[in-house]
Amino acid sequence: MRQIGLGRWRLGMAIALVLALGLSSRALAASPEGMRLYVFTSHWLGPFAKAALQTGAPNVPVTIPVAFFVIKHPKGNVMFDTGVNDKVIKDPNYWGPLFQVYKPDQKPSLAMLTQLRKIGMTPRDIKYVVLGHMHLDHAGNVGLFPNATVVFQTSEVEAAFWPPPGAASPYITADFAMLRAGIGNPLPNAQKVIQLNGDLDLFGDGSIYIHRSVSHTPGSEIMVVRLPHTGTVVLTSDACYLQENLDKDILPSIGLVYSPAGTLEGYQWIKRVRDAENGDVIFAHDPDVFKAHKHAPEYYD
Ligand SMILES: [Zn+2]
Repeated sequence: MRQIGLGRWRLGMAIALVLALGLSSRALAASPEGMRLYVFTSHWLGPFAKAALQTGAPNVPVTIPVAFFVIKHPKGNVMFDTGVNDKVIKDPNYWGPLFQVYKPDQKPSLAMLTQLRKIGMTPRDIKYVVLGHMHLDHAGNVGLFPNATVVFQTSEVEAAFWPPPGAASPYITADFAMLRAGIGNPLPNAQKVIQLNGDLDLFGDGSIYIHRSVSHTPGSEIMVVRLPHTGTVVLTSDACYLQENLDKDILPSIGLVYSPAGTLEGYQWIKRVRDAENGDVIFAHDPDVFKAHKHAPEYYD
């Protein structure tokens, strides 16, 4: 030890300090300042029977929002779900017979590009598009983001392109056909994708966490957003439709559930995160919960 000169000792201490700080800053990884969560709705759906969303519900009509979200993050902006394809504004036939079933409103003010302008963004400002699943009211506008990296589960993209029996109707192939590479390409993806078979901490800082839920569809995704001031917000996409479904563990009608057991497991996961982190939950389709939140251009930070 005595041979080590003062200079070398200082160097050693400096290295030790850097290592210690490096370790501690990793241990204290936290959501970065500057994060914002914007809440939007695409074209509202309905009225249709509430029993579709909640087994055993009285036969009352509901009209529901189609929430989608933009998260501003210093490492890149993230969109969660992309709403109803804006083609329905001018062309109801784009949804075929489903137009009469779900009755999307056709307000031009709800078009994706018009709404992004409210927060000063264009599709080029979105680095990641995360799909809660690929049904017609969630992957509708994914084609507007050719420069983004699209994040989905393997099982979802397989189900979307060739759905299991009984599950075909809510997937509209034209919504996402552009994700496939052209003839002769060895890889299936035409743009950057992150194809998952499980969960992902998108930026490695815990601030945006994607959870696979085999529930509403084979590859549904729930997103946990941890904001520096607001705290934790769970975005369910269609892993759960309504607050009441979550509170009372009620399933939707069977036609809208790929896995009943997986759906109940998803409810438990959502509640566990919410309760452990004293968080908030925003559903894609609960009108009361949607109305109770701030909407873009207002935001949560
Ligand atoms: Zn939906």
